[in-house]
Amino acid sequence: MEKLKCSVSKKCGGCAYLNLSYEEQLKKKEDYVRHMLGGGVKVHPVIGMEDPWHYRNKVSAAFQRRRDGKIVSGIYEEGTHHVIPVTSCLIEDQKADEIINTIRNLIPSFRIRVYDEDRGSGLLRHVLVRVGKTSGQILVILVCASPVFPSKNNFVRVLREKHPEITSVVLNINDRKTSMVLGNRNITLYGKGFIEDTLCGKVFRISPSSFYQVNPVQTEKLYGKAVELAKLTGKETVFDAYSGIGTIGIIASDRAKSVTSVELNPSAVRDAASNARRNGIEKITFYKADAGDFLERMAAEGSRCDVLFMDPPRTGSTEKFMRAAVSVHPSRIVYISCEPETLGRDLKFFRKLGYRAREAWPVDMFPWTKSVETVTVLRVADQRN
Ligand code: SAH
Repeated sequence: MEKLKCSVSKKCGGCAYLNLSYEEQLKKKEDYVRHMLGGGVKVHPVIGMEDPWHYRNKVSAAFQRRRDGKIVSGIYEEGTHHVIPVTSCLIEDQKADEIINTIRNLIPSFRIRVYDEDRGSGLLRHVLVRVGKTSGQILVILVCASPVFPSKNNFVRVLREKHPEITSVVLNINDRKTSMVLGNRNITLYGKGFIEDTLCGKVFRISPSSFYQVNPVQTEKLYGKAVELAKLTGKETVFDAYSGIGTIGIIASDRAKSVTSVELNPSAVRDAASNARRNGIEKITFYKADAGDFLERMAAEGSRCDVLFMDPPRTGSTEKFMRAAVSVHPSRIVYISCEPETLGRDLKFFRKLGYRAREAWPVDMFPWTKSVETVTVLRVADQRN
């Protein structure tokens, strides 16, 4: 694959596989998944991406003022709080990078003070851009230490003049000493305050702090595989745990009797409920709770479910959740994971509880980085597909 390599890749550390061909990196990821899942699970070849560049629909840039007064934006050097300037990136959406460059260039004329981490003074900390790859909608989030943004209306007007494709601008307030990018408060300066995007034929609303997969092209393949593995016929009761903005449950609902979804982040749950309405789906219910607590209560009440989807964060699931999962007696558990190490650990625990995965399908959601997503299906150990 002929492509100009990246000048900051060593300091950034994100694209560890940039020195390999795309085929070589897929093989490496496949081997890694096989190693982490251990014998007994057949690992299929990684489902790759046709054009594995500029796939990221969410781009975040940290801002810093250098000693000489120059303002830079980019990424933190691995393990430090030193910002490496980035003006374009091989895996980020190009329009998002252009918008961030424009904002950096506007800073001096608007006399915006860039936040100083050591002193805890200044205003602008980060800029986050979310792009709806199918809808074309673009949300710009200005992460600031205070809600007082100088001539904000004028700033938004100039920014929109330069980038008419921007559909919303939000001021996010983060006044804490933290490495988390976003704070809790959002003030919409322009537009709806969120973007919408279409995935597997359904429309989703995505708010500033809700989780949404960063590579929608590959997400369609991932969810397509997950729903296929669930073997739904329209009669099943489905449980969707760690449901985010409701994507998997909403996509699976066409072929289910009913869906119950649970998610911890309140803004994601609000998005999920709105997404169900937007797509005219009534047979899905969303709960804001810890997935383990919720499922334990369901199990204690004697509830059952036919198919359970689970899509936990990198840290994987908990023993409490897995114990409760098997006690609602699903005939299939479809486990989607972005971390093979915790997936391997959890599959071992499920095995002790009598559920077993025989095959796994890795999906390349994050080309050039070391990360790999995997989907697998578990059934009671003595049953075959
Ligand atoms: N299935 C969704 C989201 C997956 S990301 C999608 O594909 O888009 C994992 C989600 O788990 C995040 O939305 C996160 O907020 C949520 N989460 C993390 N810990 C949780 C917990 N203990 N209980 C419920 N949800 C949790």
